[in-house]
Amino acid sequence: MEKYYFSYREIHEIIQQKAKEIISSGYMPDYLLAIGGGGYIPARILRTFIHRPIVTVSLSRYDDITGKTVSIPIKQQWIDKISIDLTDKKVLLVDEVDDCRTTLEYCVNELLKTYDMELSIFVLHNKLKEKHGKIPDAVKHMFIGKEIENKWINYPWDALDITAHELLSERNND
Ligand code: 5GP
Repeated sequence: MEKYYFSYREIHEIIQQKAKEIISSGYMPDYLLAIGGGGYIPARILRTFIHRPIVTVSLSRYDDITGKTVSIPIKQQWIDKISIDLTDKKVLLVDEVDDCRTTLEYCVNELLKTYDMELSIFVLHNKLKEKHGKIPDAVKHMFIGKEIENKWINYPWDALDITAHELLSERNND
């Protein structure tokens, strides 16, 4: 199979299992920081198990006009000290997939320009591949829901036909 199709149920279960491990490790963030668009739903599921407020930023790897991938992610929405002061807080960044790692590296470095805080990362999926970005040393924990092969992932929230998507996820992810 060239692509993955993951169901809401699988995603929920991966996050639940990882949340259990995170809580058992003794780590508890003050905030979940969703990196949108893909991190919104995983962050909301994570909050079911780790009861912390969600704040958001939104980054894009694609230029809306040309549709091409950009080397530096574009800030669609960002946060500042006036909207929320995360200074001295423990913040858990949440994204759906670590692909080349460019987004995570950029997001961590940009946040650390504004805030002196403790940052950790939760990604639902990590693709096992060569990474272009580096997780900055300042990151305290890197939590990974599931390691997967380097294939394109179709997430249920992108599905135009969720019934067809769920059928593909049942057939193809064994
Ligand atoms: P990176 O910066 O790690 O290369 O890419 C991270 C972002 O690219 C993700 O947050 C996601 O929006 C997008 N992305 C990368 N790989 C995939 C994939 O296989 N499926 C989907 N749906 N998005 C992906």
